[in-house]
Amino acid sequence: MSCIFCKIVNDEIPSKKIFENDKVLIIEDINPVAKVHLLIISKVHIESANQLDEDNIDIIKDMFLAAKQVAIELNIDKAGYRLINNCGINGGQAVKHLHIHLLGGENLGEKLIWR
Ligand code: 5GP
Ligand code: ZN
Repeated sequence: MSCIFCKIVNDEIPSKKIFENDKVLIIEDINPVAKVHLLIISKVHIESANQLDEDNIDIIKDMFLAAKQVAIELNIDKAGYRLINNCGINGGQAVKHLHIHLLGGENLGEKLIWR
């Protein structure tokens, strides 16, 4: 599998790991756009939100719970943060492996588009 996030999950490419369980890996984004910029990555390869279905949707629960837990551990939960999933070409998805951006550590304002 040539997918870059699969390689990160399999430790073939190094990353700064923040959290890991059997379903989810959370790492620091290599090109942060906020003081806190993490990637919540499903360990199983799912291309995008378009490939979610009744059989694999439980991963979203695991990803959100992991995000919440890390936000608490980083003490940014109460101030708040933003979770973003880019899907497909118009969504600006560069890596075709399901992930959610966690942005925070500062006030992100009200804008919905961040780059
Ligand atoms: P997308 O545009 O697909 O939603 O986001 C992909 C994200 O992955 C980008 O924010 C990019 O900076 C990050 N990224 C790409 N390659 C790597 C890498 O090798 N390591 C890490 N930690 N992040 C990466
Ligand atoms: Zn993958």
